[in-house]
Amino acid sequence: MTETSEHDVIIIGGGPAGSTVARYAAQGGADVLVIDRRDPIGTPLQCGELVPSNDEMRRLCPDVPDMDDLFQTPKEAISRYSKTMHVVPPSGKPLKYNFEGLVLNRVAHDEALVELAKKAGAKYLVNHHVKSIEGNTVFLKNGGAKTAKIIVGAGGHNDPLRRDYWNESSLKIPVKFVLVEGDYGEAVELHFGSMAPGGYAWMFPKSSGANIGLGIQRNFSKGKTMNQYADEFIAKYDGETTFKGAGSLPMSGTIKTFVKGNYMLVGDAAGMVLPSNGAGITIAMVGGRIAGQVIAEHLKDGLPLEEYESRWNQQMGKVMRNSKRSFRFGSLLFRLPDWVLNLLFNRLTKGIIWRAVTCRRMLWII
Ligand SMILES: Cc1cc2nc3c(=O)[nH]c(=O)nc-3n(C[C@H](O)[C@H](O)[C@H](O)COP(=O)(O)OP(=O)(O)OC[C@H]3O[C@@H](n4cnc5c(N)ncnc54)[C@H](O)[C@@H]3O)c2cc1C
Repeated sequence: MTETSEHDVIIIGGGPAGSTVARYAAQGGADVLVIDRRDPIGTPLQCGELVPSNDEMRRLCPDVPDMDDLFQTPKEAISRYSKTMHVVPPSGKPLKYNFEGLVLNRVAHDEALVELAKKAGAKYLVNHHVKSIEGNTVFLKNGGAKTAKIIVGAGGHNDPLRRDYWNESSLKIPVKFVLVEGDYGEAVELHFGSMAPGGYAWMFPKSSGANIGLGIQRNFSKGKTMNQYADEFIAKYDGETTFKGAGSLPMSGTIKTFVKGNYMLVGDAAGMVLPSNGAGITIAMVGGRIAGQVIAEHLKDGLPLEEYESRWNQQMGKVMRNSKRSFRFGSLLFRLPDWVLNLLFNRLTKGIIWRAVTCRRMLWII
């Protein structure tokens, strides 16, 4: 650490992970600068926009404390409340589950997280691309540089800190989605089978229209391109397309270590996406809160930064392990022909399938 650092903490990326680190570190008294290449942060949209409600999060992640402080989603960031999830095999006949979800206006959601962090005292430098990091210095593409005692990589799946200092690769699945007009009911849908080989497809209804998309594992696809899979699935729903987007999801689960010296990773940069259901927003925020709190305690009382990993494991270790296991199992299952999957998705397996999607052990052996 240099004495001359301009800031206590620089956070690369002001998405759900980075803005949550910023909020809790600043609340704990740290001088925080968030640098993001986008302006405004959160645009253009790259998301399916579904998150569990706070009550559902309490059920899914029982070891994570104080959900209501962490998730303060304002009304204008919520497009629709849903109470039902349909898990749909290739036959199209859904298994129906009670699930409390919020279909977001993701751009407004991320803006609200920035505002919470600013209110806590964090500063933002937008429209600035971080090129590289050396020692305590963050170098910007436009030629500037900033220094800090602690540097956090929250730049998503292509984070520059992860790229340059973590020699660990993650499986990334390409994802495409559209916003369409129309009325699609109240239930959110997850589809599994050959329409999205090795991944899944979704239809999440909004207050008006829907967010529809899919992700695939390329090595599972049989001679078709990602665009063909996406076009075929989206064509099942009529309604005019108003927006098209794409992105990439890390699906290997968390990486081995989140802390190296005074460098830390969080959110997608650290693999904090539950591979069995693609949930990344709330999980990035769980990681972000832990990282922010540990940073504040480190600066005040010298708490080792590695405490971030221990607290993550206490709060999320079990859920992440179960989710990885379900994803591996699913990857085997979804190589089977559609007619077999149709037989396997039935009333008797309904409970097991739900346990896999919601990151619990499916059976005592797996
Ligand atoms: C198409 C798609 C659909 C998805 N659907 C869902 C869903 O329905 N529900 C769900 O929970 N999750 C979903 N996810 C996953 C979710 O979006 C991510 O897990 C979540 O956004 C992770 O937050 P983050 O802050 O780690 O990264 P991001 O949200 O990616 O934020 C990273 C930030 O870092 C900035 N940045 C990156 N590199 C640099 C740089 N070099 N310099 C400066 N700034 C930089 C970016 O501009 C960005 O603002 C989806 C992902 C995709 C791609």
